[in-house]
Amino acid sequence: MAASTETHCPYCALQCAMALTPDEHRLQVTGRDFPTNRGGLCRKGWSSAELLTSAHRLTAPLLRGDDGELHPVGWDEALDAAADAIRRTRASYGADAVGVFGSGGLTNEKAYQLGKFARVGVGTSRIDYNGRFCMSSAAAASRRSLGTDRGLPFPVADLDDAQTVMLLGSNVADTMPPFVQHLAGARARGGLVVVDPRRSATAALTADGSGLHVQPAPGTDLALLLGLCHVIVNEGLVDTGFVESRTTGYEALVRSLTTWWPQRVAGITGVPAETIRTTAHRLAGGGAYVLTGRGVEQHVNGTDTATAAINLALLLGLPGRAGSGYGTLTGQGNGQGGREHGQKCDQLPGYRSITDPAARAHVAGVWGVPEESLPGPGLPAVEMLRSLGRPDGVRCLLVHGSNPAVSAPDAGAVTDALRRLDFLVVADFVLSETAAEADLVLPVPQWAEEEGTMTTLEGRVVRRRRAAAVPDGARDELWILAELARRLDAPTTFDAAAERVFDELARASAGGPADYSGIGYALLESGDGVHWPCPAGSVGTPRLFLEDFGHPDGRARLVPVTPAGDAGPGALTLVTGRLLEHYQSGAQTRLVPELDRAQPEARLELHPATADRLGLVDGQWARVASGTGTARARVLLTDGVRPDTAFLPFHFPGAQRANLVTRDATDPVSGMPEFKTTAVRVTPEEEV
Ligand code: SF4
Repeated sequence: MAASTETHCPYCALQCAMALTPDEHRLQVTGRDFPTNRGGLCRKGWSSAELLTSAHRLTAPLLRGDDGELHPVGWDEALDAAADAIRRTRASYGADAVGVFGSGGLTNEKAYQLGKFARVGVGTSRIDYNGRFCMSSAAAASRRSLGTDRGLPFPVADLDDAQTVMLLGSNVADTMPPFVQHLAGARARGGLVVVDPRRSATAALTADGSGLHVQPAPGTDLALLLGLCHVIVNEGLVDTGFVESRTTGYEALVRSLTTWWPQRVAGITGVPAETIRTTAHRLAGGGAYVLTGRGVEQHVNGTDTATAAINLALLLGLPGRAGSGYGTLTGQGNGQGGREHGQKCDQLPGYRSITDPAARAHVAGVWGVPEESLPGPGLPAVEMLRSLGRPDGVRCLLVHGSNPAVSAPDAGAVTDALRRLDFLVVADFVLSETAAEADLVLPVPQWAEEEGTMTTLEGRVVRRRRAAAVPDGARDELWILAELARRLDAPTTFDAAAERVFDELARASAGGPADYSGIGYALLESGDGVHWPCPAGSVGTPRLFLEDFGHPDGRARLVPVTPAGDAGPGALTLVTGRLLEHYQSGAQTRLVPELDRAQPEARLELHPATADRLGLVDGQWARVASGTGTARARVLLTDGVRPDTAFLPFHFPGAQRANLVTRDATDPVSGMPEFKTTAVRVTPEEEV
């Protein structure tokens, strides 16, 4: 039998372990025992090898010709064209007219190299990534309250022994099904609490009496959390010893909660006051975990909402102890590592601020460049996308592993902006909707064709291993960046070998919150990976905060937060989200026949009473319109959504893009866009 290669799934942040074994036609996938998945895989994982042999793979660089069409060219011509465009743009408009857009799906090595390439190879501050749409608000809240952001500051397997798990805006039964086994303990104790305006697959798990589905109106999560905190303070549930010894800010927080009595919160959220009380008491009963997801984070007040969830956990003394805690469930495959190594506009490797003089000096030293040559903070993703093609904005853009023409808010305007650019370069392995707009497309390998590392949602660094040869015509992004840097006469060297890039990354991270300096490929060769921080000589840190939080005084911060007002949602509010069968913009999963057959088109979930009022029936095509734009979707009737709520998945292309409707308003702290409270009108579509 052919030898198997041990690696991890290409999709979500659970990073389920799998073995790839070649047979006559393709790689066979089997699940491997690993702490996050224990041998389990979801439908996407099982079918992931099909993408490797997809007929849609790109096998040569494509350059747009004078006829307006993309034509295959050689690699030298392609890289010369990209380097010429960067040089021209820099010379005419300055280095900040060149933008780089990365991804939470890139390996740690590529994320690191992309940040270095932007700041040293190009000299631009304009680098950010699609994780801005995904993790930025929870990350900002964790840094503000806890001093460090690691999605889960404890191993996933700790959840097995929980008495209570409260999931706020997270649908793990669809987004990462093997995760559900970690909820078995809480479910056996009747302690699964799912907060979601929709009866998602996860909320439906509570129907057997194993927990509670709390169904607030869309956009009222912050009010609900303030109501829970109010009950905890006013009904004697605060862990006073913990609060006194391990936090600051208690008095100010209590003052801010005074008016959030359950009856008022019930009026805003639609959640009965008694349910709010019951939930607070359940959480205070010991062994509880509070976990947030995109449902409560993708808001213009996303940082404050995640902060309120952390306040709730801190009042109960959950974080910083074995057997309880707070965490956020990162979504993208390398959503955790993707935000640690310098592809965020405000961060340097090691998850350090780009404005911190000591961090700048350290990283400049590793890169061998003068500290003063490093650019300052750039623009968060939405602002950078808004600037595309404008006189003082980004004129030349490089996109790596991302598909903003589908995934960005106000996707219609983003697509128009991509067309305004002087030059657009997209590195991808298929012609995504963004690549189709490019002047130059660079074909790259996929997950099973490359070496590297990923960091799971619990901060565990794991190896991605090559199981198949890189297809003829594709080139690794590390090589592409090294070649571009050479053509641009970059003042330092760029390695193209993943292991050596990792070693450099580890040195650059030394001393930062996400310290990888004690990790190397040799250490990752056996075992189940290593949790950061892992300074040289350490064996890693599975559980954070057991003694100190990440702030200099070791204490967590209780931060008062408050919504702008009591306003609940309008007549019909659109919430966007994910399906089991698809991942992100769907550029990958829509090409897997099994997944495409199962979910071929956008379905708009509506309550039957709402559909009745609007004159719509099940299966009919409808127009979903907002102040931003219009999308089309097929109606799916379900009493699992509230009558004031509509749900639309965001994986579909063209006129079915959910993000044609979402607006590009952002959270002022984190730059997170608002994806969950779009006021919409839904009307029948007469002709299809
Ligand atoms: Fe892959 Fe996530 Fe599914 Fe696991 S849960 S198989 S990591 S997509």
